[in-house]
Amino acid sequence: MNKPGKRDALNSTRKAPGKRQREIDRSRQAPREKERTLTTLMSNLDGMVYRCRNDAHGTLQFVSEGCYHLTGFRPEELLLHGEISYEQIKHPDDRLRVRDEINAALAAERRFFVEYRIQCRDGAIKWVWERGVGIAGDDGTVVTLEGFIEDVTERKLSTQALQQAERGFRSIFENATEGIFQTSPEGRYLNINPALARICGYDSPAEFIASIGDMQHQRYTERTRHDEFMRLLQKHGAVTNFVSEIRRKDRDKIWISENARAVFDETGELLFYEGTVEDVTESKLNQEKLQHLANHDPVTNLPNRLLMNDRLRQMMLGAQRNKSVVAVALLDLDHFKLINDTFGHNRGDQLLQTMAHRMQACVRESDSVVRLGGDEFVLLLSGVGRGEAMSQVTQRVLHAIARPSRIEGRELSVSCSIGVSMFPRDGRDVQTLLRNADTAMYKAKELGRNNFQFYSPEMNVVITERLELQDALRKAVEKEEFVLLYQPKVDLVSGQIAGMEALLRVKDDKGGLLQPQNFIRLAEESGLIVPIGEWVMRQACAFNKLLQDRGLPPMRVAINLSARQLTRYDLVRAVEQALRDAGLSAEFLELELTESMVMHDPETVIATLEQLEALGVQLSIDDFGTGYSSLSYLKRFPVASLKIDQSFVRELGQDDNAAAIVKAVISLGHSLDMKVIAEGVETEKQMSFLLENHCDAMQGFLFSRPLAADEFITLLEREGSGTDKFSILRQLCSSFNDQSSLQFTANITGN
Ligand code: C2E
Ligand code: MG
Ligand code: MG
Repeated sequence: MNKPGKRDALNSTRKAPGKRQREIDRSRQAPREKERTLTTLMSNLDGMVYRCRNDAHGTLQFVSEGCYHLTGFRPEELLLHGEISYEQIKHPDDRLRVRDEINAALAAERRFFVEYRIQCRDGAIKWVWERGVGIAGDDGTVVTLEGFIEDVTERKLSTQALQQAERGFRSIFENATEGIFQTSPEGRYLNINPALARICGYDSPAEFIASIGDMQHQRYTERTRHDEFMRLLQKHGAVTNFVSEIRRKDRDKIWISENARAVFDETGELLFYEGTVEDVTESKLNQEKLQHLANHDPVTNLPNRLLMNDRLRQMMLGAQRNKSVVAVALLDLDHFKLINDTFGHNRGDQLLQTMAHRMQACVRESDSVVRLGGDEFVLLLSGVGRGEAMSQVTQRVLHAIARPSRIEGRELSVSCSIGVSMFPRDGRDVQTLLRNADTAMYKAKELGRNNFQFYSPEMNVVITERLELQDALRKAVEKEEFVLLYQPKVDLVSGQIAGMEALLRVKDDKGGLLQPQNFIRLAEESGLIVPIGEWVMRQACAFNKLLQDRGLPPMRVAINLSARQLTRYDLVRAVEQALRDAGLSAEFLELELTESMVMHDPETVIATLEQLEALGVQLSIDDFGTGYSSLSYLKRFPVASLKIDQSFVRELGQDDNAAAIVKAVISLGHSLDMKVIAEGVETEKQMSFLLENHCDAMQGFLFSRPLAADEFITLLEREGSGTDKFSILRQLCSSFNDQSSLQFTANITGN
């Protein structure tokens, strides 16, 4: 039998080979296959396989097909420096380093890995990654290098971008002015930036982490604050603008605002918390300052109306619970406007501050002293019990306020009027309580000031009347519903009418006239006296001009001024204007001022008076003897006459003191080179006394009541015609002046 193997081998192309033969064939073909596989692999590799000499040029002995794709050069162009050496392709800046790194690896007999740039045929720069080994020759020295070079440009660029981004973020983290932190889910600090360390008073993040460790120990001044922060963070996954007060390392307190959020992985597992911290101390303090400003009066630093509303409401709620009472005491400084006007706002403000302190000293810590504005204050007192306790407090306040105070070297005294209303008896809301306290306060003013009154429902009637009067006055100003009466002043030497005083009345709706005592104070308090006073000035000047135009003997018209007209507005300009409008010469106008008006702040007033005098207007001091006068100032004032107050004249013949005072005023006036006029002369006895003592002029019912304009004209016309009244008066005067003694035989009051 033929051995099948031999036949098979002979007929191998024709017959399917046996198993053994196949194995033999395969092993014969194996080296070739391997080579082919390698070649295929190499030419398909993304990169180039090489072998080169270990010489200065890295002379290439073999490169794979990938060479073209990587460098743009074909293998034959590179092999044995066909066209260019691989060394030349390497970026000049990298060549030396690459060589050094490879040499170092070879010396250490390890594989080398090196990254560098090459310049491709088209000029493009690529990053490559080369790894390889040195192959030693027989003598043990490395003769060739074999390795693989691949293009890593894309990876390199994205790593660079990442690094750049990382550097950017790091810089933000390191240089941020806001504190930034990262904590573990348990609240342990993992990472914080220098700003956070700085905010908390630590030198470095490391010191911060070492000493604070976990968020629990951040020293929130309010103990529950941290729990609240964690609660919100856990509940919502984020917290924004969480403001709290903490202690720094040096124990100083600061305000911080925190923002934080939880960071989860894809599976929803909490990884860490991260957030920011900002030092908001300054804005917090500013905010508090603003809040304080909004709620406090800048002059006294007391709570203002806004805060009072709040506090009173709180106190009422408390009182409701405890079944107790709250007292609302409205306090108004008496005549404060006058002080402000005459001594200036600076001193006025200082006085308010002093009074605010005194009021605070009179009440308990739990009570409130509020400044409503101007000279109005409110005391809110809780738990005052029955009326007596409240009376004691208000009594204390009255005394404290009335104590004189020294302000800028001057002693100032002020009193106050207090009205009290009680919750719940007199009202159950802020508005009503204040309104009723106000009513009681006005009652206190009416009763002569420097006292306090508890509110009672009957008081409302008085207040309503007052409001009605104020309303009527306002309307009167609009419609000019005023009347001026004129009272003659009689010269006691010639016995002739030497001047007149204009006296104001308001027409009431029943056709009658309101007397000054009923409205002047209200007009002054409400400021209406300014427009009213202007009307008086215009009217009086026009009337006097009318008399002159009628050919009547020229004389002066006197008008009365209020303090407010002297200090709070440009009186000189108003006087000039009134004179100009009427066409009246200034010498025919006289202004009557009171002692208190001029003596409050003589230095300031003197300037105004001098300007008025320069205009040619005459000045006199009214109601002389009722106020207080400094003689040295009196001498300096450009005043032409003194008017002895009618209270002294009235007492003449009944009271020796009054007589002495009248005499003294007359001689004082004369020694100061002033004329002296007596007002309120009602009897012949009074007149004879004045004549005897050389008083210059008189004014009073004995001669004439204040008259309406037309009546006054008639009076003047009669004077010229020599009617009884005037001739008797003239006779009396001249005979007295001739004989220096007088017997009254005729009744000059009769016509
Ligand atoms: P006064 O300036 O001292 O005016 C004198 C007051 O005495 C006037 O009162 C006058 O009617 C009154 N009188 C005159 N002779 C007699 C008399 O023989 N016996 C009595 N018992 N009284 C006499 P009247 O008109 O009621 O004015 C009161 C005060 O009102 C004035 O006192 C003055 O201070 C003020 N007044 C009047 N008109 C004005 C005005 O236009 N402006 C200002 N600011 N105040 C005025
Ligand atoms: Mg007068
Ligand atoms: Mg008077």
